[in-house]
Amino acid sequence: TELSNIRNFSIVAHIDHGKSTLADRLIQLTGTVAERDMKAQLLDSMDIERERGITIKANTVRIEYPAKDGQTYTLNLIDTPGHVDFSYEVSRSMQAVEGSLLVVDSTQGVEAQTLANVYQAIDADHEIVPVLNKVDLPASDCERVAEQIEDVIGIDASNSIHISAKTGVGIPDVLEAIVTRLPAPKGDRNAPLKAMLVDSYYDAYLGVVVIIRVIDGVIKKGDRIKMMKTGGQYPVEKLGVFRPQMQDIAELGPGEIGFLTASIKQVRDTRVGDTITTEKKGCETPLPGFKPSIPVVFCGLFPVDSAEFDDLRNAIEKLALNDASFSYEMESSAALGFGFRCGFLGLLHLEVIRDRIEREYNIELITTAPSVVYHIFMKDGEMIELHNPADMPDLSKVDHLEEPRIKATIMVPDEYLGDVLKLCQDRRGVQLDLTYAGARAMAVYDLPLNEVVFDFYDRLKSVTKGYASFDYQMSGYQEDQLVKMQILVNDEPVDALSIMVHRTRAETRGRAMCEKLKELIPRHMFKIPIQAAIGGKVIARETLAALRKDVTAKCYGGDATRKRKLLEKQKAGKKKMRQFGRVEIPQEAFISALKMD
Ligand code: GDP
Ligand code: MG
Repeated sequence: TELSNIRNFSIVAHIDHGKSTLADRLIQLTGTVAERDMKAQLLDSMDIERERGITIKANTVRIEYPAKDGQTYTLNLIDTPGHVDFSYEVSRSMQAVEGSLLVVDSTQGVEAQTLANVYQAIDADHEIVPVLNKVDLPASDCERVAEQIEDVIGIDASNSIHISAKTGVGIPDVLEAIVTRLPAPKGDRNAPLKAMLVDSYYDAYLGVVVIIRVIDGVIKKGDRIKMMKTGGQYPVEKLGVFRPQMQDIAELGPGEIGFLTASIKQVRDTRVGDTITTEKKGCETPLPGFKPSIPVVFCGLFPVDSAEFDDLRNAIEKLALNDASFSYEMESSAALGFGFRCGFLGLLHLEVIRDRIEREYNIELITTAPSVVYHIFMKDGEMIELHNPADMPDLSKVDHLEEPRIKATIMVPDEYLGDVLKLCQDRRGVQLDLTYAGARAMAVYDLPLNEVVFDFYDRLKSVTKGYASFDYQMSGYQEDQLVKMQILVNDEPVDALSIMVHRTRAETRGRAMCEKLKELIPRHMFKIPIQAAIGGKVIARETLAALRKDVTAKCYGGDATRKRKLLEKQKAGKKKMRQFGRVEIPQEAFISALKMD
């Protein structure tokens, strides 16, 4: 295809503002999919996430569009979920296109994710076309939302397109705007091959499928290619485009987006942002901005039933095969036995992997407190990255500690602002900015990531009745007064409950954790002290009273079946418990104890 007849774009939007519905309409109106094959949300990245696993970040479709100028254009849409955990991957797919449709729900207005995603588009120098959706609803207020886009984002919204992705109103205008308002890609067909690795996923039949954007040169089936960063070399076996189902194609030239397969065994060998060239006579300089994704949140995953350790290993290895950003290593804990210390890009990533192990592999897990990566500066000048509070070195050898911080953007209706500011303050936040747009406030905070990983998002949702939106990005490391707090149950330290905490919050947190655990641990036949301690000094204490009653006592020994049933019930309940010395701690205690409310 001629460069001048190609348009590459993405759609950026806050969740539920209509991105998937609009993509469906564009596909439908251009006849890309036969009417009888049309089903709702063809491109839905969340669905694909569900099917292929969280690792799918970019999803593409090629659309042929006969424009009003009489020419037929090839439109390539790259769709990304745009979740904060994958902001680097999203930024790469933004680099692979020249423009964005900015979809905003005209009954709602700009939200935190709208901002985070549109800034990525602006960073990638995109031409941006504002699209106001849901004009069929009575609450639609395009004038107000256009004004808000100009105020908050600072882009011209006077020529925004008003549509209903549901009824189809305005969709032809969107197609025309893609052709007339977005720039054509640039590239040199005669230069050596230079293509960007946009994303990859594992397919049971095809092996690793790699999504690419060709910058310069031409790629053909049979070419021998090289990944410039990872060094891998492969013969191209299959080349094609998504329409949205796979369709083979002879070659991909400059400006084009498609996929290739090349007997690549694992997704780990394909790094998002890498540059693909030919093995011989390849290009000299790779594309700028490559960075390997680094896990920022770590936690321990242990099987509830220690006999399931091998099953857990198998599950983790399989999941890691398709996910280059998930890391793991074996860990042994005095209290929990053998398990794995796993690293994730963020909390959503953690939750998805944990859920999949439990659901798809049927392994019940104990998840230890999520921890961020601390930088520990030793007195001898060495710097250690701490992934697990249990590995905290002797304090006498430590000079100081640094913790990762984030820049968080929160958008919220005015009436909840007070509660949001209090929450941020409670979590050691520093306010960077506070602005108003209509009846909504936008608060920008510098917060320690450590304070966000536990239950910040849940708390935010509950204090704002779900009306706040939240997004963040990592902003760097900063020194602070952090200490390791241990929890002792019946005088034995439970390492899985150790956390790093700010010195000024230690006592409150310690007391809250002891109180929670007192509720969560069932009574035993003896009295159990529950304590929080910092370096051997107890800072909080609760005592769980002893239990005397025999659960089967009221059966008077007569009704044997009833007695047996009761014991069975007790046994089933125990399976979810874990033995610590003489004390049994239920599985849910490990996460619940950390929630602050
Ligand atoms: P996404 O999260 O941005 O992909 O949003 P979806 O496309 O999944 O849409 C979210 C919800 O809004 C769905 O229930 C859609 O049916 C609905 N929706 C999308 N566009 C419109 C529209 O133009 N009008 C109305 N009334 N509903 C819409
Ligand atoms: Mg969607």
